[in-house]
Amino acid sequence: MAFNSVVLVKQVPDTKNITGQAMLDDGTVNRAALPAIFNPEDLNALEAALALRQLCGGSVSVMTMGPPSACEVLRECLYRGADRVILITDRRAAASDTLSTSYILSCAVRQIPDVQLVFCGRQAIDGDTAQVGPQLAEKLNLPQVTYVEELIEASDSSLTLRRNLGDGYEIVKASPPLLMTIVDTANTPRPPAARKMLRYKRARGKTELQKEATEQYGKDAKEDIDRYVQQRSDQLSAKGLLIEQWDLDTVKADVTRCGRSGSPTKVHRIQSVVLTGTDHKRIEPTAQAIGELVHELIEDHTVG
Ligand SMILES: Cc1cc2nc3c(=O)[nH]c(=O)nc-3n(C[C@H](O)[C@H](O)[C@H](O)COP(=O)(O)OP(=O)(O)OC[C@H]3O[C@@H](n4cnc5c(N)ncnc54)[C@H](O)[C@@H]3O)c2cc1C
Repeated sequence: MAFNSVVLVKQVPDTKNITGQAMLDDGTVNRAALPAIFNPEDLNALEAALALRQLCGGSVSVMTMGPPSACEVLRECLYRGADRVILITDRRAAASDTLSTSYILSCAVRQIPDVQLVFCGRQAIDGDTAQVGPQLAEKLNLPQVTYVEELIEASDSSLTLRRNLGDGYEIVKASPPLLMTIVDTANTPRPPAARKMLRYKRARGKTELQKEATEQYGKDAKEDIDRYVQQRSDQLSAKGLLIEQWDLDTVKADVTRCGRSGSPTKVHRIQSVVLTGTDHKRIEPTAQAIGELVHELIEDHTVG
């Protein structure tokens, strides 16, 4: 059986390479201080979908919700072999929490007919909640298999999958339509293919074209900007190089459930915790000394 898959990928700040203050005072991420990368486990999700396509046929569509710069991760997907890529971008979606993010993504997935499999990474390295995959499955009314680390077998009617449980594993059989979240031990993502890179490095989304035009003509030259965007879009579209761009209206989302106002989670305070190793305490390896240490840690709420 051939499977039509949708892979959800996210562009994230590289939290391993912090070059300045990572968080702003309003509790949002200071993206200017952090280089943007492909969320690592989403590369594993993409690889799982591409490998399944190789085995059984079908198609791999990729979606990301983010700012126009997220086209970068979509180009990466094209270099690796995705059939179709879609950017969901809309100012009204800014500051969405996981509930709102998964709602918008569920509306977007519904726009693609005949989807049998949805692949997500287990977790994004910025928000770190691992909630979006499971919430999306619920909203799409799909069964979900989380922590997938191996596709053991694919038959006409079911997939046999191994789930990583941390201290063990579980083998499950599930029938599409189905959502999976993929862990980083699942596979080694294929490198970008040189020929596809040469072809798709010129792929652009409409907002990227608008930015190009604004740089060229200045922000007040509306007519020139519109003309440039129209011409370039037509040229790119004819060559299959226009990255599809959807907004909240395209995905038919209820705007009251999107963005900051549609998000029940509010960040009230961000605190930088800097651990300094200025002091130390020697604990004797006796039951009594360890008991006292544990008691002390419970008293100051470090554990318990
Ligand atoms: C420091 C920080 C703390 C946050 N804390 C919270 C919080 O406590 N509660 C809350 O509700 N929100 C929180 N958020 C907001 C949250 O990051 C966003 O809603 C985000 O879009 C999704 O959550 P996540 O990054 O935790 O993704 P996860 O749930 O960890 O992502 C799992 C998978 O879902 C898919 N996915 C996630 N986001 C997207 C996307 N935009 N486009 C396509 N696929 C996607 C990917 O496949 C990803 O691997 C926080 C954000 C930051 C930066």
